Amino acid sequence: MTGQLFAIFGNPVSHSKSPLMHNLAFKGLGFEGCYNRYRLEDGTKLKETFFALGLRGINITVPHKEHAYAACDELDPFARKVGAVNTIVEKKGILYGYNTDAPGFLKAISEFENVKKVLFLGAGGTAQSTSAILRDEGYEVTLLNRSAGRLERFAQEGFKTATFETFTPESYDLVINMTSAGLEDDALPAPKELLDAVIPSAKACVDVIYGKETPFLKLAKSLRKPTKDGSNMLLYQGIIAFEHFTDHRYTFDEIKAHMEKAFTL
Ligand code: NDP
Repeated sequence: MTGQLFAIFGNPVSHSKSPLMHNLAFKGLGFEGCYNRYRLEDGTKLKETFFALGLRGINITVPHKEHAYAACDELDPFARKVGAVNTIVEKKGILYGYNTDAPGFLKAISEFENVKKVLFLGAGGTAQSTSAILRDEGYEVTLLNRSAGRLERFAQEGFKTATFETFTPESYDLVINMTSAGLEDDALPAPKELLDAVIPSAKACVDVIYGKETPFLKLAKSLRKPTKDGSNMLLYQGIIAFEHFTDHRYTFDEIKAHMEKAFTL
């Protein structure tokens, strides 16, 4: 085998589209690479597993993005700022860490024009990196979360935050589900009366979950709002990771032309 090996580390990882996405792009672009999946149970073993498998690069999904951050020798400034890494590339024995979720998300929502105020439903790891990049780009982000604990860090960083009990609805351009509600259940990310108070005045509703229509997006559609699921975020974070894996040899659009086939196969 002369090519380079890549993988996605996570737990669970069997559902991941990343192997299909990256292998289609390797094949289409004629790059000698092969991308697999690896179910990593113990995140503290990430680094030794990476080297034991002889990998050149990995993506990292739930629940290991913080372990990935800790495993890196060098961090891209944005990954350092948000404390989460979802892409690692090895060069001469040194592990370089990046966060491509946030720029992928930013690109996915940039199709909506004249957006300033954004409401995030949820305050987990994905909300952390995406809220930071949105703020850097001039958006105003408010975070609404079921419980108070995860909001503390955001409040300290100067974001507007509220729990379901303390929330006073305002008008937002985009309402975005950043929770896992609806992923494996039929839950809405917030009580229906709160959603009914913010969706009608929004320009559109977005979900980071992909591959299914969540109860949140169903509700938004019933209120005649444009909707968008998490597929483009997944595709774009994958393209940006691929750019790092292949040392920026291909343009975004060249990679996209092959990688996006994973969503129609
Ligand atoms: P975390 O576990 O870090 O955070 C989960 C968040 O969801 C918390 O705010 C939690 O609230 C909230 N939550 C969970 N269940 C419910 C519920 N039933 N009702 C209300 N709130 C709920 O998750 P991540 O941030 O890592 O991931 C969030 C979502 O983003 C997942 O669905 C994941 O699949 C998706 N994702 C999509 C990507 C893409 O490329 N499309 C990339 C990365 C993630 P509380 O604090 O109260 O527990």
